[in-house]
Amino acid sequence: METVTRFAPSPTGYIHIGNVRSAIYPYLLAKQQHGKFILRIEDTDRGRYVEGATELIEDTLRWLTLDWDEGPLVGGPQAPYFQSERKEIYHAYAKRLIEAGRAYADPTPPEQIEQYRKECNDQKIPFLYRNYRPTDTPEWHPGIPLRFKAEPQNYQWRDEVMGDMHAGPEVQDDIILIKKDGYPTYNFAHIVDDAEMGVTHVMRGVEYLSSTPNYLALYDALGLTRPKLVSLPHILAPQGNKKLGKRDGAKSVTEYRDDGVLPEAMLNYLACLGWNDGTEQEIYTKEELIERFSLDRIQTSGARYDETKLLWMNGQWIRRIFNERGVDALFERTEGFWPDVADEHSVEYRKKVLSIIYDRLKTLSDLREMTAYFFADPELDMNMLLNNKFLKKLSESELENLLKTSIAKLSSLPETTWNADSLQSTLNQLLQETGKKPAELFSLIRLALSFAPFSPALNLTMEVLGRDASLARLNAVARAIQ
Ligand code: GLU
Repeated sequence: METVTRFAPSPTGYIHIGNVRSAIYPYLLAKQQHGKFILRIEDTDRGRYVEGATELIEDTLRWLTLDWDEGPLVGGPQAPYFQSERKEIYHAYAKRLIEAGRAYADPTPPEQIEQYRKECNDQKIPFLYRNYRPTDTPEWHPGIPLRFKAEPQNYQWRDEVMGDMHAGPEVQDDIILIKKDGYPTYNFAHIVDDAEMGVTHVMRGVEYLSSTPNYLALYDALGLTRPKLVSLPHILAPQGNKKLGKRDGAKSVTEYRDDGVLPEAMLNYLACLGWNDGTEQEIYTKEELIERFSLDRIQTSGARYDETKLLWMNGQWIRRIFNERGVDALFERTEGFWPDVADEHSVEYRKKVLSIIYDRLKTLSDLREMTAYFFADPELDMNMLLNNKFLKKLSESELENLLKTSIAKLSSLPETTWNADSLQSTLNQLLQETGKKPAELFSLIRLALSFAPFSPALNLTMEVLGRDASLARLNAVARAIQ
């Protein structure tokens, strides 16, 4: 049987990193099994609907390269893929339950239901609506809620992650299937849709585990084959023991994109948060993840979100793209991340800068701060220079002499041999001739060129800056020390 999985988000806001894994794992499984991955928009809670949220979901999945085989924008045999447009389908299933005596129209006013709930709370007993099931029920028509008629029993089932499960009658209830506004509840709609769409693996957050007996009752009442159920443990907030949520500052996935995180890194990080293939490997391409993914290696306990690890992984991915696919491939990703002053410089020049700085980047947006001095003369910050931990041991006149000697030596190198190798030998000669420590000499030149907390190797920095700019900057500092 073809494996069919789905991601079924509700368009109630942005997709944050805590919930996008419910898209990644179904995608990986479907691709591994040469099956189908469906995107379905669960938008029947009209009160929580957020304008633009569907586009954000699509955008997020596309950015992560989790392309769906059926769903919005691409269509498919079970279209439409928006639940709000599938009312007739739910109503048809509802009629089947009514005819089988397993659903009833509930005329009870909400205030009355509240009263029942309160009674139970006061008596400290669980509120189960089936204990208050009305006896006289009208014929169902939209405008009146439709409820399931539970026939509580013991259930056993297997959850592919959590293992063998069982539950008694205590959680099975007369759940609402169709609301007063005619839209189905999640509880009913997802059962119908998963069946209609041929979903073989229902993969979703573990928060749905406790409602599973109600879902099993619905599968049985409708005569549907149960799909495989896969509960994904929560991603935990960095502190405490709670699920990572928007309230803990869980950023949207696309915010990370805007901060210069690569989709490869995001996918890699999230896929490995709560799953491993039993090896020590940490960096996986999407293809490797597809090949290695397995349900039985999803961990049962929550995995803690660690942004530092994500950023480390992003740095690894930046290096990998550069080393494996070359500067052009990495450069393509950097649009919008350069400092404004870079606009006045050629693509070739920016690529040179990228080639010597890429291995220091954690995110692409680091380019903004880390490369500004390649594109415009830095502001002289004599305090930074004089207070440098290596340079503060030298007097101002020593600094001045050292700088002048360096300028004279470097000036002897003509434009034609102003390259990393000759610069390195010139710097080595300077070290010998001045008798200074590398930390002193190189810090002085480096700071005079960049006034930045760090920069790539000095010879590379000078090669990229070029002879004129390098000497001009050193001269400007020499004048300022005098
Ligand atoms: N619409 C549900 C949610 O966003 C989906 C749960 C599921 O995947 O069935 O939480």
